[in-house]
Amino acid sequence: MSKLLSIRTYGDPILREPSRPVEAVTPEIRTLVEDMFHTMKASQGIGLAAQQIGRTEAVCVVEIPEDYDYDEETGERLNPDTPLRLTLINPEIVEASSRKCGVEEGCLSFPGITGNVDRPWAIVVNHLDLDGQPRATRLQGLLARAVQHEMDHLAGDLFIDRFSHVKKLAVRSKLKRLEEETISQMALT
Ligand SMILES: [Zn+2]
Repeated sequence: MSKLLSIRTYGDPILREPSRPVEAVTPEIRTLVEDMFHTMKASQGIGLAAQQIGRTEAVCVVEIPEDYDYDEETGERLNPDTPLRLTLINPEIVEASSRKCGVEEGCLSFPGITGNVDRPWAIVVNHLDLDGQPRATRLQGLLARAVQHEMDHLAGDLFIDRFSHVKKLAVRSKLKRLEEETISQMALT
């Protein structure tokens, strides 16, 4: 049975901690991955990184519905040869398209906060899979965006860091409130 892990919210210092590489893909890491998928789906998210559940291994998971994997203009599948449920261990971006686009993002660690973030449309990521095998995965569209968002978490970066100056000002008081809530909840546990 997978465990439901508690999601860390903004204000928890672990969200700013960079992850450390996984040395070996052990059964413990595979259990962690299962628990992360379970937690992500229960929260209706499309991605989750280790820091968001209080860990610092370089592990993130992403899963998008097939409906979101179509090109809006051509109607074609964007990642027909890639599973839409991805586990990335020790991921590293080795190529990024010069084409960027801006899309409204949310984050399970920031309930109620969304904002536009510019990111490359396509990337190539080197990573280990669940068998510990090195892979190079090419991604486009929402899948590429979700992976980049989760990889920011692994570096201790957050999507709010990428908001425009105006947007940062607009969410300042919401963020302050969320941070205070997180800190007071941490004091209780
Ligand atoms: Zn996030």
